[in-house]
Amino acid sequence: MSTPQTDLDALVVGAGFAGLYAVHRLSRSGMGVRLYEAGDDVGGVWHWNRYPGARCDVESVDYSYSFSEELEQEFEWTERYAPQAEIQQYMRYVATKFDLWPLMEFNARVDAATYDDVADCWTVRLQDGRTSMARFLVLATGPLSIPLTPRIPGLEAFGGALYHTSRWPQEGVDFTGQRVAVIGTGSSGVQAIPVIAAQCRKLTVFQRTANYSIPAQNKRVSPEYLAEVKANYRARRELARQAKGGSPFRYRTDSALSVDEVDRVDAFEKAWERGGTHFTKAFPDIMVDSTVNQMAADFVRNKIRSIVRDPAVAEKLAPNDHPIGAKRLCADTDYYETFNRDNVSLVDLKEELIETVEPDGIRTSAALYGVDAIVLATGFDAMTGSFLAIDIRGSNGQSLRDTWQGGPRTYLGMCVAGFPNMFLISGPGSPSVLANMVRTAEQQVDWVGDLLNYARDRSVGRIEAQQESQDAWVEHVNQAAQGTMFLKANSWYLGANVPGKPRIFMPYAAGLPVYTEECDAVAAAGYRGFDLALPKPAAHSRGVGQRAN
Ligand code: FAD
Repeated sequence: MSTPQTDLDALVVGAGFAGLYAVHRLSRSGMGVRLYEAGDDVGGVWHWNRYPGARCDVESVDYSYSFSEELEQEFEWTERYAPQAEIQQYMRYVATKFDLWPLMEFNARVDAATYDDVADCWTVRLQDGRTSMARFLVLATGPLSIPLTPRIPGLEAFGGALYHTSRWPQEGVDFTGQRVAVIGTGSSGVQAIPVIAAQCRKLTVFQRTANYSIPAQNKRVSPEYLAEVKANYRARRELARQAKGGSPFRYRTDSALSVDEVDRVDAFEKAWERGGTHFTKAFPDIMVDSTVNQMAADFVRNKIRSIVRDPAVAEKLAPNDHPIGAKRLCADTDYYETFNRDNVSLVDLKEELIETVEPDGIRTSAALYGVDAIVLATGFDAMTGSFLAIDIRGSNGQSLRDTWQGGPRTYLGMCVAGFPNMFLISGPGSPSVLANMVRTAEQQVDWVGDLLNYARDRSVGRIEAQQESQDAWVEHVNQAAQGTMFLKANSWYLGANVPGKPRIFMPYAAGLPVYTEECDAVAAAGYRGFDLALPKPAAHSRGVGQRAN
């Protein structure tokens, strides 16, 4: 086997928040880095999800990088929860400020990656057939980047326009005068429905599962508020790192059962007014105690009944088949109010099933709904989809698809035994989608960056998670989810939205601070649980960060 013809230390895949930071962090520490991105711009989910109403549900001043104080001071967010375009504009700003564009290649989808056991490096193949080699592979391909399209007979023969929220046309869509169907009422549907309803002639919402949604209480942010945040950014970031969900808030710590009914309802009311996904943090036991969860859910159901004028519609919108928070909590602007509009109707797919899509509409077991456009807000093959979309072959040619056939297994959510020198960002077994994902991305990328520096300093050529450490981590991740409400819903956290996908609770539920401590302890113990091997002398003569020629 010849010496790899590459001067790259690391290949990064994906130009979302995680990949952008990875390329910055690794190049800054002197590594030769290249990033491949399937899309034609930076942004990740903020490039692809341009549907009307798309915005973050973690406050923008927190859903942003903390690695540069200068950046924190420079960028001006305009809303509490920034819209898609502003978040993507921020990411372009980051790419320009840190001179990352020359290190990135767009319209470059990676479709295979193969590890060479002799040379200790990865060869990555792009869809157009080109290949590239590097010692390390960082997959920042996103936990929510592979959209799901439901298998509905006739969908491909629909005569109108068909959209997926996660593949929205760059030029936007004008629904004026149209009859529109939205299928799906998860986070994306809940954000898009009010905006589409305000524009189109007639909107029909097809709901499979009623989800809990809390008003985001979005608003424009004042210069005074931004100035205050900027003056206290260090403390704010520190608080975020200490919070389970990665947002800088302290929540009450007493049980909902330790206070009387009046205080409890008052706490729920305050959480509702505060808005968004903070709601399930109103008490610490909402996610672990069924009685408390039921109380919180009842509060939200009563809110829905008080907002939606038609009692029959309100009952359909009130979730009754899973605990609040067990599926991703939605944050909206006027979602329930939208069902009071004359031009909006709700089809409950628990009462009538979609049978076919016909050229001019959607036929259910009860009626034909004529529509000009269909919007699929049908979610993602979450957490594993983007890794498994790549044909990844590790040591001895073993395939990741085969290795994960029974469900994903990782060490620390970042490494897989049998797949040396490969790092997953926001992978299964890490807090990922349960926390503020800019915080989790920074934490993981920093950890990987430190490990690669450590390897460089010791001329390590091969880093591989040990099987036993991985088994113990998988067990630990399973334990962390036990006793939580997360296991009581058919959610995408469990893979339940993808036919045939193994039912395994994928994220690590113990929270960001515990996870960070565990990762740091592994590092402090000389990367306990990893085999770190010197390069094979015959294969090549350079370590990490030392350029060939
Ligand atoms: P992504 O942003 O998904 O980026 C991955 C990139 O990798 C994509 O651009 C993709 O094209 C590219 N890619 C994938 N496979 C390949 C391949 N084989 N070859 C080349 N390129 C590839 N999280 C929060 O914490 N707060 C929020 O408010 C929030 N809001 C969200 C709103 C929406 C609509 C969605 C969909 C998700 C939201 N999330 C939110 C979760 C979101 O996934 C993360 O916040 C974060 O953006 C993930 O960043 P990432 O870089 O890991 O992945």
